[in-house]
Amino acid sequence: MDVKAWGLSNVGRLRGHNEDAFEIDPAGRLYLVADGMGGHSHGEVASTTAVKEIRRYVEAHGVRGAHPGGPGGRLLEAAIQAAHQRVLAAIRQDGALHGMGTTVVGLYLHDGIATVAHVGDSRLYRRRGGRLSLLTEDHTWVHEQIAAGYLSEEQARLHPLKNVVTRALGGEGSLKVDIREETVEAGDRYLLCSDGLTTMLRDEEIAERLGREQGAQEICRSLVHDAQARGGYDDITVVLVDIADR
Ligand code: CA
Repeated sequence: MDVKAWGLSNVGRLRGHNEDAFEIDPAGRLYLVADGMGGHSHGEVASTTAVKEIRRYVEAHGVRGAHPGGPGGRLLEAAIQAAHQRVLAAIRQDGALHGMGTTVVGLYLHDGIATVAHVGDSRLYRRRGGRLSLLTEDHTWVHEQIAAGYLSEEQARLHPLKNVVTRALGGEGSLKVDIREETVEAGDRYLLCSDGLTTMLRDEEIAERLGREQGAQEICRSLVHDAQARGGYDDITVVLVDIADR
C-alpha cells in the first residue's frame, strides 16, 4: 500500500498562538489532529501533549506488540486513554492548567484496515469513488440538537454555541472514545481536520477541493487558504492521506 500524506496548520486571526496540533508518522501509518482549549496558551499544551503521547504509545506498543493480531481499534483506544491520563497528570502538577482539554481525531492504517478514533469535534472525511463521507460524528451540544431535530446542519455550523464539546481529553470522569474500522481501498483520500476548517467551509466545498487532481500538499494549501479567506478566526488544521490508485 503506497501512502502519501501531508499536514498543514495555521493560526487563527483572534489569538497569537495556535491551539491545534497534528502528527504524521509515515512509518507507523498514524495520522492525528487535535484541537486544544483552555485559557492563555494552555490549549496548545493539551493538544501537543495528546498527539505526542498517542504517537509514543502506538510506536511503543504497535499491533504486533501488546496487541498481537488484534485490531488497531484497541491500540488507538488505549493510546487515547493514555493521552487523556497524560493531560490530567499535567493539570494535577500545575493548577494553572486547570480547565485545559483537547479533541483528537486519529487514523491508523494497518493490514488494509483504516482505524478511525475520535473524541470531540475534529473530523475525518473519506473521499472514495467521487463521493465524500464523514466518518466521525461530532461530540458537541449542537450535534445533539441536530439529532433531536432542533437545529439544521447549516444553523449548527454557525451557532454561537458550536464550540461546546461534550467530550474532551482532560475532561472529568471516564473518557469514551468512538472507534470505527473500515477496509482501505486503492484511491481512497482521507482528510483529518479541526473545526477551524469545517466552520468556514461546507461539506460540498470540501468535497470539491478533495476531488481535484492535485497532490496532498496542494490540497492542504487550498483548504487552509480558502478557510482563511472566509475569515479564519479559529486555528485551521488539515492532514490529507492519499492511498495510491494501485
Ligand atoms: Ca478549533
